[in-house]
Amino acid sequence: MISVEQLSKSYGAVQALRGISFQVTRGEIIGLLGPNGAGKTTTMKILTGYLQPNEGTAKVGGFDVVEDPIAVQRLIGYLPENAPLYMDMTVQDYLMMAADLRQIPEHQRRSLISEAVHNTGIGAFLTRPIEELSKGYRQRVGLAQAIMHRPKVLILDEPTNGLDPTQIVEIRSLIRRLAENSTVILSTHNLPEVEATCERAIIIMNGEVKADAKLAELTQTSTALFAVNAEASGVEATVAAIPGVTKVSLEGPSNGYSRYRVIGEAGLELCPAIFDLAKERSWRLAELRPEHRTLESVFRDLAQSQGVAA
Ligand code: ATP
Repeated sequence: MISVEQLSKSYGAVQALRGISFQVTRGEIIGLLGPNGAGKTTTMKILTGYLQPNEGTAKVGGFDVVEDPIAVQRLIGYLPENAPLYMDMTVQDYLMMAADLRQIPEHQRRSLISEAVHNTGIGAFLTRPIEELSKGYRQRVGLAQAIMHRPKVLILDEPTNGLDPTQIVEIRSLIRRLAENSTVILSTHNLPEVEATCERAIIIMNGEVKADAKLAELTQTSTALFAVNAEASGVEATVAAIPGVTKVSLEGPSNGYSRYRVIGEAGLELCPAIFDLAKERSWRLAELRPEHRTLESVFRDLAQSQGVAA
């Protein structure tokens, strides 16, 4: 659905993008992550046809963003970080104006606007001026304008920024619902948001893609935790003898069991090997699981290795 190849963009002497490439397939929810100034907004502006790249290509639904920006914009719903709302307009007038700008045919307007209003839960506010709405509801109005033409691709920049916890939960579940019919790119600094909403993350730093993987892969480590009955003997030495295991440490006793942490070389599947050993030695296993890192620690380590502030 989205194909970005070797995209570069400079603003005068500032090189914002240095040859980034990534692909997004239909129906995916992608988190676009990066510290301030990494190049996220530049990427989104190029994808939505608002900016031209200096080099490289970007296609949405097969249309080139430079050669066919109008076709691309028909496929995309874009919610910029500060949704361009006209504060003195009522919600209803604003949505009518947005439908006009989108050139939605007269006969479809009423039904598409009511669908967007229904999906974003703003039906009770249609006759209110936007300036009287809370920030969360203004964000919903922005979302309603972004989704009213049933876009195949939704690009959302910090959609929950500044919202209260209840509104955040509501907007996140709305995004997940919208993702049932659209491909979503969500740009945010909020890593728990990506963990709660996205399947895959693309991490950009200094204008380059530094990681692009499913969240489960990004946060996977070759560390496992297990607990066996305390009287089981030779556990540490036996597990340490598994080829590829680099460290076994006793974490402590817990209710008649001893807990261990095992670290192996990258890519080593520790749990099946520990399970087989436990069976062979008749240890009673009370716990056995791979240890996962948080996205935040993956991001921080990556930023540190690149010498940028996370
Ligand atoms: P943030 O999270 O802070 O919004 P970002 O990842 O979206 O950052 P961009 O806004 O794409 O980053 O900016 C990438 C780089 O390009 C930064 O160094 C920024 O200062 C620079 N930049 C962005 N827009 C312009 C502009 N109009 N003129 C000059 N430099 C710009």
